[in-house]
Amino acid sequence: MMDYDVKGHLRNVLADLPQGVRLVAISKYHPNEYIQAAYDEGQRIFGESHEQELRQKVETLPRDIQWHFIGHLQTNKVKYIAPYITMIEAVDSFKLLKEIDKQAEKCGRVIDVLLEVHIAEEATKYGFPPEALRQMLSSGEWRELKHVRICGLMMMASNVDNEQQIRSEFTLAKSLFVEMKTRFFADQPSFCECSWGMSHDYKIAVEEGSTMVRIGTTIFGPRVY
Ligand SMILES: *Cc1c(COP(=O)(O)O)cnc(C)c1O
Repeated sequence: MMDYDVKGHLRNVLADLPQGVRLVAISKYHPNEYIQAAYDEGQRIFGESHEQELRQKVETLPRDIQWHFIGHLQTNKVKYIAPYITMIEAVDSFKLLKEIDKQAEKCGRVIDVLLEVHIAEEATKYGFPPEALRQMLSSGEWRELKHVRICGLMMMASNVDNEQQIRSEFTLAKSLFVEMKTRFFADQPSFCECSWGMSHDYKIAVEEGSTMVRIGTTIFGPRVY
């Protein structure tokens, strides 16, 4: 028997999401039976942040799960996930983007990715600061990478209680998305995703135009490390 009502919590979260906002259920550090419970309730997109943990889960859970890699990805790990990953959400350097392209080509695939932007105050967070993102896209080199498809932006707001601050970070991310869409992806309908919103701030995120929320704790309970 499961001691945690995953299905009930999942239903509550889904009821909060407007149409057009997709849920990535963040299952890192949670056991397979929790993921299976969410799957049985109809959830298909799950997010993990460690390559080895993900590999073990992929081998034992249903084949039609769409896995998103949401953590910081080292370039030497890309080859392990390239054969099956549905989306790599936290691309934070051109070097990583190039490596994903290379490994995707070896697998005969095109891999969907998001570019992670760094807007939050914390110095420890990964991602392109807005100006670095503009520079990377302006250089145009990414257009030669035929085995990655850039589908939008991903970000994490500061981990604070101040709702105004969180909201203004989401607003900034949205305006950056619109700017990048206009300048570089106007002819690409697949550049359409704004991945922001976690357990403590997803309600604000959807108000500020998120299209994809990444929620773990609210669905699965506290992580046991
Ligand atoms: C762990 C994680 C989440 C989910 O966080 P919760 O607070 O448990 O909802 C979302 N995004 C990223 C990048 C994460 O690492």
